[in-house]
Amino acid sequence: MLPGAPHLARRAGALQLDGVPLAALARRFGTPLYVYSQAAMLGALAAYRRALAGRPHLLCYAMKANANLAVLQTFARAGCGVDIVSGGELARALAAGVPATRIVFSGVGKTRDEMRQALDAGVRGFNVESLGELQRLSRVAVEAGATAPVSLRVNPDVDAGTHPYISTGLRDNKFGIAHDEALDAYRAAAALPGLRVTGIDCHIGSQITQVEPFVDALDRLLDLVEAVEAEGIALAHIDVGGGLGIRYAEESPPAADELVARMLARLDARGFGGREILLEPGRSLVGNAGVLLTEVQYLKPGAARSFCIVDAAMNDLVRPAMYQAWMAIEPCTERAAPARPWDVVGPVCESGDWLGRDRRLAVEPGDVLAVLSAGAYGMTMASNYNTRPRAAEVMIVDGEAVLVRERERVQDLFAGERLLAG
Ligand SMILES: *Cc1c(COP(=O)(O)O)cnc(C)c1O
Repeated sequence: MLPGAPHLARRAGALQLDGVPLAALARRFGTPLYVYSQAAMLGALAAYRRALAGRPHLLCYAMKANANLAVLQTFARAGCGVDIVSGGELARALAAGVPATRIVFSGVGKTRDEMRQALDAGVRGFNVESLGELQRLSRVAVEAGATAPVSLRVNPDVDAGTHPYISTGLRDNKFGIAHDEALDAYRAAAALPGLRVTGIDCHIGSQITQVEPFVDALDRLLDLVEAVEAEGIALAHIDVGGGLGIRYAEESPPAADELVARMLARLDARGFGGREILLEPGRSLVGNAGVLLTEVQYLKPGAARSFCIVDAAMNDLVRPAMYQAWMAIEPCTERAAPARPWDVVGPVCESGDWLGRDRRLAVEPGDVLAVLSAGAYGMTMASNYNTRPRAAEVMIVDGEAVLVRERERVQDLFAGERLLAG
């Protein structure tokens, strides 16, 4: 089964997203082209919602996964908030119509200006990651005549030996406040004049494909909630972060409703059943809802390796180059010819510029290929390396393809640059 099914399917040889043939979209809008299924995004959201029904909760989509305005609008209209990590994301979220009261601000390096912008907008809260940040936020809030609602992002230090996939929840990385320093940090927060403590937060990593790390982290968080509340500091919400993985190849991550049900059961068992829950899923809401379309330019068969050179590159989709990520590559139209192995590479001047290695494909120049599961951390990580304009984006809404971002124009890439005088 294709990652992205049932929205993504092959019918009579033609790869389709929500019934729309992808090769036709490549012809109509050009390549490289990102295509998203709105229905797939809403379907992924519905799985979270099923498990959360009847519970006080707020789903804050982690918009760094895919920040297109139409994507944000889709989730905002469905009642979601967003998790932001910069002033730029704040501006985007507001432009897409996300109410400030549903925006939470995460990230280790918030500047004074970003704090001020978020306070002026009236965001729902700040997830604070250090003592220095608490002090700065308090000062900025006092200057602004405001009170900043804060949660502390706690680093639960979940054992890496049992859960090797975790990358941000360990003691030795830059994220969050160490578990054993968190109680002191809460005391400090409660004493600072510009702050109002509202909750607790954690986020232990990304592309996690097991339930246990989430439940372990939640347990560590609840230990802290008990200790903090014993001192008279109330925590109105518990933010369990994001990080649920998706299927790129053979992974079998838990379904969102299964994961949430397991976490809710743990909350109930420990007497926190009525507490407001915040979640910050990113990848699991959008990853399998998108594909990147690219046209084959040249075939370079060789003795050692054979290269299929396409018009999308690491600047369009950096995950393979940056994380050695494996993403499925499918021809949009099937050929009868026998398949053979190709390294699918882009035109950028870097040997690391590849989308897939050793892929068995039957292709000819002019064919359109789809890189699957490209809805998350695709376009948001795109760059202009090699002065390449970024791709266009299309969303399929009720079976219709809607252009939701124009292809960037070359002249815009250097519009802000200046030639030297003389
Ligand atoms: C990136 C991020 C998320 C979302 O992670 P996914 O793996 O995309 O679900 C959630 N919370 C914070 C603080 C993040 O930085």
